[in-house]
Amino acid sequence: MRLHLASGNAHKAAEFAALAAEARLPLEIISARDVGGMPAVNEDTGSFAGNAAKKARALQAQLGPGKWVLADDSGLCVAALGGEPGVESAYFAGPEGDSAANLRKLVKVMEGVPDAQRGAFFNCTLVLLDGAGGEHIFEGRSEGRLLRVPQGGAGFGYDPLFVPAGYAQTFAELSELEKNKLSHRGRAWAGLAEWWSGSRPDLA
Ligand code: IMP
Repeated sequence: MRLHLASGNAHKAAEFAALAAEARLPLEIISARDVGGMPAVNEDTGSFAGNAAKKARALQAQLGPGKWVLADDSGLCVAALGGEPGVESAYFAGPEGDSAANLRKLVKVMEGVPDAQRGAFFNCTLVLLDGAGGEHIFEGRSEGRLLRVPQGGAGFGYDPLFVPAGYAQTFAELSELEKNKLSHRGRAWAGLAEWWSGSRPDLA
């Protein structure tokens, strides 16, 4: 079954394709890039769930009725920054959404923060629109802490600064498989996979 991903982010598409394969779900993840591009969406709802729903509905409107669409909205919530950048994670350093600049800004604003106060978590909210007008929401979190200097070349975004709880390496030093097991996206996906396995909409 084709599941359209409401994102133009190639990293996200690859992560979701790997998650679907690991869960042995018969889903082909189709990036918005391959179906005319992701329509412009103003992510202004102030919540992960609201933004994800807005992205999912925008792509479904572009594709036409009956298509299954998945959107995710995710971000990094830093305790010492009162939960910021949170829903604004993609635009922390400015409206152009430059992820290298976002990472540099995070390093800078966290410079004087002591080790004991460098806790942070990633959140991911998934909104799945089924072809019949139903909307299903799944959430996942990954707790950890922020380094002072970026480490590792894998992943994307804030990965080189984030060390998940119980690990010594950053997300950017873990393999895709390892990251998916404990990431916010992996955990939100686990909820979706459980729901899918229970209701098997592909067989309906
Ligand atoms: P979204 O595309 O609106 O969900 O923006 C999410 C932003 O949060 C991204 O641009 C990254 O800056 C950050 N982010 C979300 N998930 C991850 C991740 O797994 N690793 C690193 N950064 C992430």
